[in-house]
Amino acid sequence: MKKYFKLFEECYIVSGKDKYTLYNVLTGNIYEIDEKRGKFCLLSENNMDIENACNNSGLLLSEAKIFIKEMESATLGMMSDFPIAMDKLNILPKWTEKMFFKQSHGINKATIGMDYDCSNSCNFCGNDAVTNRYKCWSCNSTSRSPIADDVAFRIIDIISERDCKELYLKEGDLLSDWGKTLRIVDYALNRGIEKVLLNIIHPIDDMTIINDMRVRNISLVLQRYIEKKKQIELIMSESRKYEGLDVTYILLTELDNKETIMQVAQNISQMYSYKLLIDFMIPNKLENVSKEYFDIERTIGKIDLVSYSIRQFHNECFYKNCYFDKEGNVYPCAGLKNRKYGDIDSMPETFRSENLGNYWNMSLSKKQECKECSMRFACNNCESLNYTLTGSHDRNVLCVKTII
Ligand code: SF4
Ligand code: SF4
Ligand code: SF4
Repeated sequence: MKKYFKLFEECYIVSGKDKYTLYNVLTGNIYEIDEKRGKFCLLSENNMDIENACNNSGLLLSEAKIFIKEMESATLGMMSDFPIAMDKLNILPKWTEKMFFKQSHGINKATIGMDYDCSNSCNFCGNDAVTNRYKCWSCNSTSRSPIADDVAFRIIDIISERDCKELYLKEGDLLSDWGKTLRIVDYALNRGIEKVLLNIIHPIDDMTIINDMRVRNISLVLQRYIEKKKQIELIMSESRKYEGLDVTYILLTELDNKETIMQVAQNISQMYSYKLLIDFMIPNKLENVSKEYFDIERTIGKIDLVSYSIRQFHNECFYKNCYFDKEGNVYPCAGLKNRKYGDIDSMPETFRSENLGNYWNMSLSKKQECKECSMRFACNNCESLNYTLTGSHDRNVLCVKTII
């Protein structure tokens, strides 16, 4: 009697040049497997029985039995007496790509560069010789003249019409004119934006401001540039003020301060349930970036269903996200301000598929070195960093297979 093997609906097998990778989008785990076992999985997924799948993949029946046992004990698949039809989990089914009438271009998350005045003195402010990976989160403003209210309102009108649910306001000290910030936040909430995030670059001393934030359920992105050890205590003592709010710390520093920043991160995570993002300021030329930086950043994280689904066709950073500057210009993200899509005076042209497609569809599968790699849906990537360090989008500088 024929026997069959099938991966569970949350597990995908992806082929590469000489390896296969198995993705479990529910647990987030990924497994690299050899060619024979990969082929065996692929054939089994197409409902070929175990014996034939062995013959066609080169896997011995005895090896297949052990492999299937391992897969079953890792809850990745199961054996059965008959072929099982199973739809894979996916938030963007493949057929949407083939539709003649494309869905309209909604926006999930927008960021506005507010360019408020600022009295901080970050070493990297306005310094073109350094860069960082998460410019989408950090303040990298150089201008000190803020966005006009009417421009901010127009941007909010545009994104809310496109069903945007999340708005991030950053660049400069948003507390320096709290009345203006609140006007813009309230306008966004009234227009149906569900989540507003504010980048806050120094401790909030005024409890009425914290109360304003609580009432509106504002999320805080607390950017702290760490230069000295003594800042650890300062950060710990301010942290308790924000309890009950949705808080993400973005800790910025130079690599020399790695130990201090790790200490801060550890202290915060022991005491609070705040999210943490660590980002390093590095030279803006690839040849000047240290191996230590890449040892830290070249990692494979866990993969979830949303990321896996989007990464099959799109760039997860750019797909349905965009950045507006204070003049109303639109960009793929805050890290690519030299790559303008258009502006708020020409929205139909700006939001045409042909215009957005270059960035929205900039998936790793399009890169020469990645298209035959089975890790292409798992890898970290920052196109802003790629462009800054190499002058092009041809390669992924965070590739885990790169040896320098
Ligand atoms: S917080 Fe932003 S605007 Fe202020 S000094 Fe730092 S980088 Fe410049
Ligand atoms: S970045 Fe490296 S590991 Fe990732 S898909 Fe490309 S070649 Fe493969
Ligand atoms: S490419 Fe992605 S990670 Fe890099 S700055 Fe832009 S949005 Fe952030």
